[in-house]
Amino acid sequence: MSARETQIVRDPSKLRFLTDAARLSGDRVGLVPTMGALHSGHLSLVDEAVRCCDLAVVSVFVNPTQFGPGEDFERYPRDLERDAAALCERGVALIFAPEVDALYPEGHSTSVRVSGLSAGLCGANRPGHFEGVATIVTKLFNIVGPCRAIFGRKDYQQLKVIERMVADLDMPVEVAGLPTVRERDGLALSSRNAYLSAEQRARALSLSRGLAAAHALWRDGERSVGALREAALIPVQRSADRVDYVTAADPQTLFELDDGDFAPGKLLIAAAARVGPTRLIDNTVLGEDSPPGSASEEE
Ligand code: AMP
Repeated sequence: MSARETQIVRDPSKLRFLTDAARLSGDRVGLVPTMGALHSGHLSLVDEAVRCCDLAVVSVFVNPTQFGPGEDFERYPRDLERDAAALCERGVALIFAPEVDALYPEGHSTSVRVSGLSAGLCGANRPGHFEGVATIVTKLFNIVGPCRAIFGRKDYQQLKVIERMVADLDMPVEVAGLPTVRERDGLALSSRNAYLSAEQRARALSLSRGLAAAHALWRDGERSVGALREAALIPVQRSADRVDYVTAADPQTLFELDDGDFAPGKLLIAAAARVGPTRLIDNTVLGEDSPPGSASEEE
């Protein structure tokens, strides 16, 4: 597809009209929801949408309802022109970039809450965050009507919340979760990495280093939850300014395990920490993902 064929649409009803027409003509519609400031992690999802669907839609919308008071909604990086150029190059047909008022007009008062899965990990530190996420994703699904929606495992809890929501509410969409794309040294790509100074970036690496340390123990046969969690925690404790959590949990239910437990099968290790004012998250599933920073990981 040439650059000229990519369209930026701001109006939800126009977007719906275009995707309705595509589906009517038999096209498979794919959706990648993003908040923009796109990097190679986002673009790996976009490539999958272009590959698997006839019409790829990427939403670029910094969703206010998933930010808490005092979080970085105002200063979140925004550069639609640069994002659009990258999406054009990848063959994306439609970019949906609505204004806040178009999605949350005065009087908007409905939200979607996924209980259980939303409660722990980031849900405990960011009250209301996953309600904001579930609500905006529901709205995007209703506007775009995708056959397939593609998310990253970088936001592992978000992926599980959305999978649950789609199953519980019988939403006619297939959800795909793609691997975390990392820098060569293991740092997970994130739009928020742009906030980091060189010194902070070096300390931010402690999250993926901790996950890699847990992988090394796992590979050597360690199955004690306490030992695996501790391996992930130590570098973060040493380098971050504040540790929100380093948790071991069941990868499906997100049920948090005690240090005295033994890993039943696969084990999710998830971390959230602040480096300077920037809150970073990372995770890995032991027994499933390749270790951060290993040659087999994507870049
Ligand atoms: P965001 O713009 O942060 O809301 O992210 C949009 C989508 O991109 C979400 O499904 C994220 O999980 C995914 N994503 C963000 N960073 C990465 C990454 N490093 N690798 C793969 N997917 C990512």
